[in-house]
Amino acid sequence: MIVRRAALIGVVGLLVAIAGGCSWTNGALSDPASSGASTTPTPRVAPSPVRATPTYRTQEEIYLLRNKIYSAGQVPAVACSLPDIAVRSQKAVQQYSTAVLDCLQRAWKPLVVRAGVKFVPAVTYAVNQGSKTACGIFRKEDYVYYCRANSGIYLDWDQLVEDEGTGPVAAQITIQYLMAHEFGHHVQRLVRISQYFDDRWDRTTGATRLEQMRRQELQASCFASAFLGANQASLNLYDDRLNAYRRAAHRGDDGQPDGVRDHGSRASNTSWTDDAFAAKSPAVCNTWAAPAEWVS
Ligand SMILES: [Zn+2]
Repeated sequence: MIVRRAALIGVVGLLVAIAGGCSWTNGALSDPASSGASTTPTPRVAPSPVRATPTYRTQEEIYLLRNKIYSAGQVPAVACSLPDIAVRSQKAVQQYSTAVLDCLQRAWKPLVVRAGVKFVPAVTYAVNQGSKTACGIFRKEDYVYYCRANSGIYLDWDQLVEDEGTGPVAAQITIQYLMAHEFGHHVQRLVRISQYFDDRWDRTTGATRLEQMRRQELQASCFASAFLGANQASLNLYDDRLNAYRRAAHRGDDGQPDGVRDHGSRASNTSWTDDAFAAKSPAVCNTWAAPAEWVS
């Protein structure tokens, strides 16, 4: 399946970052730096305004490499109870993703708070092509994305409903994984990782820029798997459901038709998500401190 990023990042006026999301289609991942990839450099204000204000580069290290989310502990098991419904309609995708989101918010809230940040809930919308979102019109090539403007996770319900090819288990697990990944972007935004990723994006080009993007995307997937591992029991991620989860989590951008390497190889995705699923913690998700070969 593909992760196709809508407008990569938009910063409008007062640091209102617009979108950064993903969409999935068959098999590979992509996140092209498409159209709205321009951002406006914005002056940053250090949290401690008195003396010895850290330099900007130090700030970046604090938020990317030494973010408090890494030491916020394990993601708790939150007794996640999902509806046992057939995912065959917009209503069903909305209902199922809303239930997954409820689990994600309850699980991540204490960690975000321990990272010293106010928790703001996300919202999810089952939409399709042509729908109006807070990040513009949902396009044909969009599949799923996180929109920073309203903390919205938008899912293309048309492409997520089960059919003979996917079957009921894969349809449910795909939504679980997509929601967990996009919520990973929400956590990144809350703890200001996204802000510093944006800056790296702005000041890099080519292969270096793609590497930053892989760090960001692999981390969102790592956060996703930390949540899913912590909630394996109540989500019943065993047997065929566990296999479906692995198929979702282990995808890579290796065989992408356009050759854009922006979400990490199958090997990288497997490594980060397996570690996080076992550790149940964002402690193992510091993709920013990892050597380049780990985020290939
Ligand atoms: Zn993503």
